[in-house]
Amino acid sequence: MHPEDFRRAAHELVDWIAAYRERTPSLPVWSRVEPGSVRAQLPAEPPEQPEPFAAIVADLERIMMPALSHWQHPRFFGYFPANANLASVLGELASAGLGQLGLNWQASPALTELEEQMCLWMRHLLGLSANWHGVIQDTASSATLVALICARERLTSYAASRGGLQAEELPLTVYCSGQSHSSVEKAALLAGFGRANLRPIETDETYALRPDLLAEALANDLAKGYRPCAVVATIGTTVSTALDPLAEIAALCRQHGLWLHVDAAMAGSAMILPECRWMWEGIEQADSLVLNPHKWLGVVFDCSLYYVRDPQHLVRVMSTNPSYLQTSADGTVTNYRDWGIPLGRRMRALKLWFMLRLEGAEALRTRLRRDLALAQWLAAQVDATPNWVRLNPVHLQTVCIRHEPPGLEGEELDRHTLAWIGQINNSGVALLTPAVLDGRWMCRVSLGAETTSQEDVAHLWATLRQIEA
Ligand SMILES: *Cc1c(COP(=O)(O)O)cnc(C)c1O
Repeated sequence: MHPEDFRRAAHELVDWIAAYRERTPSLPVWSRVEPGSVRAQLPAEPPEQPEPFAAIVADLERIMMPALSHWQHPRFFGYFPANANLASVLGELASAGLGQLGLNWQASPALTELEEQMCLWMRHLLGLSANWHGVIQDTASSATLVALICARERLTSYAASRGGLQAEELPLTVYCSGQSHSSVEKAALLAGFGRANLRPIETDETYALRPDLLAEALANDLAKGYRPCAVVATIGTTVSTALDPLAEIAALCRQHGLWLHVDAAMAGSAMILPECRWMWEGIEQADSLVLNPHKWLGVVFDCSLYYVRDPQHLVRVMSTNPSYLQTSADGTVTNYRDWGIPLGRRMRALKLWFMLRLEGAEALRTRLRRDLALAQWLAAQVDATPNWVRLNPVHLQTVCIRHEPPGLEGEELDRHTLAWIGQINNSGVALLTPAVLDGRWMCRVSLGAETTSQEDVAHLWATLRQIEA
């Protein structure tokens, strides 16, 4: 494609995207197409001859649109907010248009230095100390994997450079909350610890990790000849945004020489609000932490911030340094390829830069405060209404609820819960995600889509009340 053709097509596409965002509120939130329906409409073979751009836009509309679930919809209350702020979308477009690849600093000095500066800006916005050094990764899952590999290598004095984990005499163990994200389990398995050496710790009535049980598990393992290696604490669990008691966990980690990784993938965005920072009190004791600006904060997926206290250790673990990547600047610059798993990196910092500059930090804080207030409002309605139960303490933007009509219990109650959630989702009015808490199905209302207003939450509550009939 020539730049002149690109110019024309890109204008058309941008107009189409803008129109899509304008009409999103009028679309059903949830796609209801049958599996296979999209593929059935796509040709089996790629075209031999060029097609007009208009044909692609037409297919976006005809084939793709009915099969989209609209994450940017004001009544998207499912999973978690994955906001794709349009200022960040421009940054993503700029990144693609520039086609940079950061193999090392020299391969794209701007890519590296903008990323360094964005990690610094975010560190300031989050109220973190200057002891943290950041890098942008694709996802929290990758960051947590890197953290557990670094933990393993620190405890074993770089076993990877010898016989690896296979040559260790004692099995290394990892601890996390029973409510931690599936990516923690996955990271522990991929980092080679083995399922038998992963210890999910029971949680308390707020679904937070119980430090007394963590201490007990550590003592047990030490007595049995295991080598405790790392704890992953979660600030804002996936199901109910529970807060593991970080300060107490950090004290145990210090006592036992354990790596402390903090998974704040979802809730980390809230730390741009000073009034929320009590939630991760003790964060300065951690070794590594991850948060996803691609969730509530609003940067279009993917943009995950990974901060470490000891970048030299990270680089030593991750570095390979083949001759063709060595440059004379190596001693004085950051080579981010040594800060994570992939070699090639794109210019992800652009979308953060665009969003922060075009929105300003104050607007982001205002939006997050709006969502915290909306969650409190919904929680108050639930609390004040007979036969509705709120199941989690609402510190953030997730409200876990259940409709419990008199006489309905156990599996019957589960069927009722899944039925009304399915009914609302199928209606297209709103999207809600069912999840299991304490062995029973319940409904998560995850607020925080960029366009959600008080009216939308009121509309949801009115819809919920209708299921009582
Ligand atoms: C979303 C989430 C993750 C996974 O994030 P990815 O970036 O999709 O890997 C991990 N932990 C928590 C607590 C999350 O909310």
